[in-house]
Amino acid sequence: RGICGSHGQPPPLPVPQKIVATWEAISLGRQPVPEYFNFAHDVLDVWSQLEKAGHRPPIPAFWWVDGTGAEVKWSFEELGEQSRKAANVLEGACGLQPGDRMMLVLPRLPEWWLVSVACMRTGVFPVSQSTSPLCVVSGAIMIPGISQLTEKDLKFRLQASRAKAIITSDSLAPRVDAISADCPSLQTKLLVSDSYRPGWMNFRELLWEAATEHNCARTRGQDPVAIYFTSGTTGTPKMVEHTQASYGLGFVASGRRWVALTESDIFWNTTDTGWVKAAWTLFSAWPNGSCIFVHELSRFDAKFILNTLSRFPITTLCCVPTMFRLLVQEDLTRYQFQSLRHCVTGGEALTPDVREKWKSQTGLELHEGYGQSETVVICANPKGMKIKSGSMGKASPPYDVQVVDEEGNILPPGEEGNVAIRVRPTRPFCFFTCYLDNPEKTAASERGDFYITGDRAYMDKDGYFWFMGRNDDVINSSSYRIGPVEVESALAEHPAVLESAVVSSPDPIRGEVVKAFIVLSPAYSSHDPEKLTQELQEHVKRVTAPYKYPRKMAFVSELPKTVSGKIQRSKLRSQEWKNEKQPQKG
Ligand code: ATP
Ligand code: MG
Repeated sequence: RGICGSHGQPPPLPVPQKIVATWEAISLGRQPVPEYFNFAHDVLDVWSQLEKAGHRPPIPAFWWVDGTGAEVKWSFEELGEQSRKAANVLEGACGLQPGDRMMLVLPRLPEWWLVSVACMRTGVFPVSQSTSPLCVVSGAIMIPGISQLTEKDLKFRLQASRAKAIITSDSLAPRVDAISADCPSLQTKLLVSDSYRPGWMNFRELLWEAATEHNCARTRGQDPVAIYFTSGTTGTPKMVEHTQASYGLGFVASGRRWVALTESDIFWNTTDTGWVKAAWTLFSAWPNGSCIFVHELSRFDAKFILNTLSRFPITTLCCVPTMFRLLVQEDLTRYQFQSLRHCVTGGEALTPDVREKWKSQTGLELHEGYGQSETVVICANPKGMKIKSGSMGKASPPYDVQVVDEEGNILPPGEEGNVAIRVRPTRPFCFFTCYLDNPEKTAASERGDFYITGDRAYMDKDGYFWFMGRNDDVINSSSYRIGPVEVESALAEHPAVLESAVVSSPDPIRGEVVKAFIVLSPAYSSHDPEKLTQELQEHVKRVTAPYKYPRKMAFVSELPKTVSGKIQRSKLRSQEWKNEKQPQKG
C-alpha cells in the first residue's frame, strides 16, 4: 500500500523521485491526494528497506551530538525500530487514542524526532474495536512548542489545544506542574530525563522496556499530523493544522530544489524543535533520504556554529538570517568547513549585506526562502536560479503566488500589495486546513480567489518577490509607502549597526514618519549619539531613496523579540503610538 510500492519489494524508482512524481501529479491535478498516506510507513519504512538493500550511501538517517562528545546515530532501520517502541509507549502507558493531541516541548534531544515519528505511527483502537493494521485510524497529533515557553505560554497552549499529553524535560516540568491544575484535558505527563519526578512517567525507562513490534496507524492523507502555534509576531499565536499529505508530501520538492537535498547529504538546521522550521527539516530531509544532523546547542554563539561546521561533514546548513548576521561578524577565513556546500535561510528578511559578506568570505551562496506556519515554502531561491540580492525569490511550486489588492485582484508587476496564494478553484494540497476553533479568522484570511498571507511585497517583471514587511509594519509617510525591511537593510550596511527595527512614529505634519530602533555594534557603543544619528541618516539617504531615511532614531540595548527570535515591530509601534490614534492600514 502507500505511494512507494509494497513492502519487501524496493520500488522501481528511488523514493525521492517517486514521491516527487506523486507530488507533481497531485499538484497538476492529475491525481488526488492519496486516500491513505502515512509518512512513517510510506516514506521512512521504505527508506529503511532501500538502506538494507544497499540503495543508500552508508550515512545515518539521524545524527545527534552534544558538546561533551556524546552522540546518537540512527539508520532508517534503527529510527524505525526506536519509533515503533515509542509508539507502543504512547499507546500503552500513555493511553493515547487516535486523534489525541500531544504537546512536545523538548530541547534539541533525539527524543523529539522519535516522538514526532511515533505520533504518526500511533493509533490503535481500544481492544473492544479492531486493532487490525487495515483498520483506518488517524495517528496522534503532535503540537511542538519552544523550550523557552513560560508558565503562561504553556497554559495558553495546553488549554487552547486541549492536549491530552505532554512530553518535556527536567527544566520545563516544574512550569507544567505549576499550571496543570488549570488544564483539565492534560492526563499524561512524560519526562525525558535520567531521574524521576512525582506525577510524571519516565519516557526513557518506558522506551527501554517497550516492545519493538508495532502496526503503524493506517492514516488517511487528509488526517491531521501536526498543530503549530504561529510565532505570535502580530498578536496571540494561532493554531494551524496540517495533514499527513500537506506536510508529509508537501516538502519533498522544495527539499530537493531549494535545499538541494539528496541521499548523500547531511542537513543541519539550527532551529529550535518547537518552531515550524524543525518540521520543515524533518519533512524535506527524510523523503529525500538525507541525514538530519542535530547539535544540542546548549551554547548558541557564532563560534560554536562555525566550529561545528568545521568538525562534522555537514553538507547543508539552515540558520535564520539573524544567525547568519552574527556568523559574518566573525573572521570566517579562520575556519575550514569540512563538507559545507549549500546554505539556506528564511523565517525573516535576509538583508543583502549579510548574503554578500557570507558569499565573499565562504564562497557559498545563501538561498533565501519565505513561508509561514500556514503553508509550505511560498517563495524560494532554488539551487541554480539567478539570485537577486534582497529578493526572497520566485513563487515555489505548486503555489500560484500573486500580489493582490484589498479585493483580491491581481496587481501588475512593480505594484506593492498583499502576497497571496491562489486557493480557488483548487486549494493547494500542501496547505493548512484551518485555524483551529477559529472559523472567523480562517474565513478572514481569504479574499476573492486568494489566501492573504498578511505580508506585503511587490513582484518584478521577472517574477521575483521583494518583501516590504508585514501588512501592519509598512509605513505611510506623506503618502510614500515605506517597507521597514528596505530601511533596515540600508542601516545594516553601516558598521555601527548590529541590528535594527524600523517602525512608524506619529508626526504632526506627515502623519507618520520612519523611526529606527538601533542596537549598536560594540565598537560604536560609546560614540556621540547625536553625531551617529546624523551619520546614519546620511548613510540611509545615500544607499536608498532618500525619502526612506529615519527621521527619528533611538539607540537601544535590545529589540523586543518573540520566543522564536523574530523582531516584534508591533510592540515598538504601540509604544510610539501610545497616546495617538494610529491610522488604519490598507
Ligand atoms: P503570527 O502569525 O502569530 O503573527 P508569525 O507570522 O511570525 O506569527 P510564522 O508563521 O512563524 O509566524 O512566520 C511567518 C512569517 O515570517 C511570514 O508571514 C513573514 O512575515 C515572515 N517571514 C518568513 N520568511 C521570511 C522571509 N524570507 N523574508 C521576510 N519575512 C519572512
Ligand atoms: Mg503569521
